[in-house]
Amino acid sequence: MPHTRTHHPGTPEEPALFEAALPPITREPWGSSPTVEALGAAICDCMKCPLGETRTKFVFGTGNPSATLMLIGEAPGADEDAQGEPFVGKAGQLLNKILEAINFKRGDVYICNILKCRPPGNRKPQAEEVAQCLPYLRKQIALVRPKLILALGLTAAENLLGTTESLGRLRGRVMQYEGIPLMVTYHPAALLRNPNWKRPTWEDVQAVRRLHDELVQQGR
Ligand code: URA
Repeated sequence: MPHTRTHHPGTPEEPALFEAALPPITREPWGSSPTVEALGAAICDCMKCPLGETRTKFVFGTGNPSATLMLIGEAPGADEDAQGEPFVGKAGQLLNKILEAINFKRGDVYICNILKCRPPGNRKPQAEEVAQCLPYLRKQIALVRPKLILALGLTAAENLLGTTESLGRLRGRVMQYEGIPLMVTYHPAALLRNPNWKRPTWEDVQAVRRLHDELVQQGR
């Protein structure tokens, strides 16, 4: 529901009333975290969804907290859950190679996921889990303030863009997430299963590099 403010002439507005109508993100303590590190510390004991009970480690994110490129995957897998860092397993090794191919080191960019805790058996994130976790990611993005976001795979794209389009239709386009340009490519784990997608991914990430450099150069 959009927040509408009906102001009757002659009646003073009541700021406190409207304050209370704002979404919870602004009222939770972590919402005012001044840095990415502070946000991580404020939310790392989260128990808002049942994945809090089953996780080994909370997987907040890694990389440069002022990165100009932010990569967003789906959710931690077994290796990430054990180590507390995103993309450290087989898919992560491939992601590192993809980044190297476009002259980024892992530490240059910021890497995180839609969910911060591992879904058992690596199943897809459920709507309720995403609903609880996405506000953290929004705040994380607001603190990193990347010039460009790369969504890795359909789960990231669907949840950031609210789209139901196929990955084949989403790749190659520049979309927006809260005013930040966003591109989509295949998830590295999908490339491990289907090497035919390596060529289109190579094209996608070259386009990402070009757009990233343009945006950085323009200072936008
Ligand atoms: N797959 C993801 O989407 N994220 C990870 O961190 C690891 C595997």
